[in-house]
Amino acid sequence: MSLWFEVANCDLKHKSTNYNSSVAVNLQIPLRKISSINPATGAILREFESANEEDIRSAVMRARAAQPAWNDLGVQKRVGILRQFQQSLLERKAEVADVIVQEAGKPRAEALTTEVLVVLDTARFLIENGYRLLRDESLPHGNLVAKLKTGRLLREPYGVIGIISPWNYPFSIPATESLAALVAGNTVVLKPSELTSLCALELQSLLHGAGVPKDTFQVVVGDGATGAALTQSAIDKLVFTGSVATGKRIAAIAAERLLPVVLELGGKDPMIVLDDADIDVASSAAVWGAFVNAGQACLSVERCYVQSRMYEEFLFACVAKTKKLNVGHGADRETDIGPLINERQLRIVESHVEDARNRGARILAGGARYPELGRNFYCPTVLADVTHEMRIMREETFGPVLPVMAFENDDEAVRLANDSEYGLAASVWTRDSARGEKIARRIQAGTVMVNDAISCFGISEAPHGGVKASGIGRAHGRFGIDEMVRLKYLDIDRMPGMKKVWWYGYGEKFAQQMEGFLDSQFARRFSDRIAGLIRSAGVIRHKKI
Ligand code: NAD
Repeated sequence: MSLWFEVANCDLKHKSTNYNSSVAVNLQIPLRKISSINPATGAILREFESANEEDIRSAVMRARAAQPAWNDLGVQKRVGILRQFQQSLLERKAEVADVIVQEAGKPRAEALTTEVLVVLDTARFLIENGYRLLRDESLPHGNLVAKLKTGRLLREPYGVIGIISPWNYPFSIPATESLAALVAGNTVVLKPSELTSLCALELQSLLHGAGVPKDTFQVVVGDGATGAALTQSAIDKLVFTGSVATGKRIAAIAAERLLPVVLELGGKDPMIVLDDADIDVASSAAVWGAFVNAGQACLSVERCYVQSRMYEEFLFACVAKTKKLNVGHGADRETDIGPLINERQLRIVESHVEDARNRGARILAGGARYPELGRNFYCPTVLADVTHEMRIMREETFGPVLPVMAFENDDEAVRLANDSEYGLAASVWTRDSARGEKIARRIQAGTVMVNDAISCFGISEAPHGGVKASGIGRAHGRFGIDEMVRLKYLDIDRMPGMKKVWWYGYGEKFAQQMEGFLDSQFARRFSDRIAGLIRSAGVIRHKKI
C-alpha cells in the first residue's frame, strides 16, 4: 500500500509506524510534507506526505478497475448509497462542522450552512433527480429521411474522474462534484487542497461508510505537484476548482492530450445597488456578501457600485453594520468573521488595501491586521472612492474587504460591472425587478442574482460556473450531471431489409428527383412543395447498388 494511503487513513499515533514501514517502497522519490494547520492558532492538526506520481498512478489504476462494477450497480442502487451518505452526514453534521472550523477557520454557523447544508441538499437533488437525468432519452427525428429510425441518447460515465479542489469550501466543493460524478457511474480520485486534507478525508469516511467501495472514491492528499501528476495521469476527465493561474496551467496540460476539463476559477463579482433599492437590505447584503468566509469565497462581493444619489447613505449603513461584527475564532459561537487561511492570503489583502489607500481611497472601517486575536486575522474593511485603476477593483482580493464606488446611471453600472477579466457572478439590487432583470441580462457572468448574492451556490438545481477568465463548464444541477457523462447517440434503423435512398446508384434521374425532394421539404410556398413532391416521385424506388 502506498505511503499516502497509510498516512491519510491513520491518526497521528499510528503515523510514524506506517511511515517507517513505507519508506523502503518510496526510497527513490523525495517525500514532501504537507500540514493541516488551524489558521487561527497555527496548531498543526495533522501532517501528511504528499502523494507522488506513483501513488497517483496506482490510485487511478485502482479506480479504473473498480469502475465497471460501480457502473453495473445501476443508478437506483447508487442513489440508495447516496441516501445512506446523506443520512450519515446529517447524523455526523456537528462532527463534520468541527473539522471544517478547525481546518478552515470559518465560523461554525457557516460550516453548517455553506458546507454541510449545501452537501445535504446536493444529495437531495441527486436522489430525487439522478435516475431521471441519467436514463436513456428518446430522440424523435423531424427529417423525413430519418423517420424510419429510432434515435436514443445514452449517458455513459467517463470512467475515472479526477477532482482537484481548493481550500475555501473544503467540504462542499469536492463533495458536490464527487456526488455528481459517482451517481453517474464514474469512480473518483480527489486531490484536495494541501491546506484542507482533513475535510476531504471526512468526506471519504462518510462515502465509504455509506457503501461506496474504497477504490471507487479515493482521496490522494498532496500539494500542487500532486495535482499536476493527477492532471497528467490516465484519468478520463478533470474537474478543477481553484485560481485562474492554476486553471490555465491545467488547461495547457489537458490540451496536449485532449483531456476534457471543467474549470471553476476565480471571480471579482460586482454588486450593483440602484437608487430605488432598500438601503437597509442592500447594505446588509453587501456586508455579508463581502465578509462571509472572511471574504474568501469565489462568489464574494468583491466590487460594490452604488448609484450616486444614495452613495454616502449606503456607506454609512455599511460602516455601522461592519462595526457590529465579531471577528474571532470560528469555534466561538459569537464569531461572524474568522481568520484568513494563511499569511500569504493576508499579504494579498494587505497589498490591495495599501494600493487603494495610496491611490486615494478612503478607509472607513478596518484596513489593518488584528494580531491580538491570533494568526491571520484581518479587520473587516470598508473602502470608499475606489477606482478601476486600483488593484482592489481589478484583481481577486479574497479577503474581508468591501470596496465601494459611485455610478450615475444604469449604462455606467453595466459598463463598470463588465470591465473585468472575470465573469463568475453578479448581483443587482432594486425594488423594480423589471429594471433589475434588464441590467442582469446585460452583465457578463455565469449567474446574476437580483436582490440576493452568493446563495446561488446553494441552489442545487442552478448551474454554477463562469464566463471569461472565471472558467469553463458548469457544476451543480442537471448541468453538473451533464459534465460527468459522455453523450452517446444510438441510432436503430427499423427497416433492416431496405437499402437507403441516398446510397450509390445516383445518375441524372436521381439528381432531378432529389431536387424535387428538397423543394417538397423546404420550399416556402405550398405550391412549390407540391410541385417538388411530384418531381421526386419514385425516388425511393431508384435503383441502388
Ligand atoms: P489554487 O489554484 O492555488 O489551488 C487549487 C488546487 O489546485 C489545490 O488543490 C492545489 O493543490 C492544486 N494545484 C496547485 N497547483 C497545481 C498544478 N500545477 N496542477 C494541478 N493542481 C494544482 O487555488 P486555491 O488558493 O486553493 O483556491 C482559491 C481560488 O479558487 C480562488 O481564485 C477562488 O476564486 C477559486 N475558487 C473558485 C470556485 C468556483 O467555483 N469558481 C470555488 C472556490 C474557489
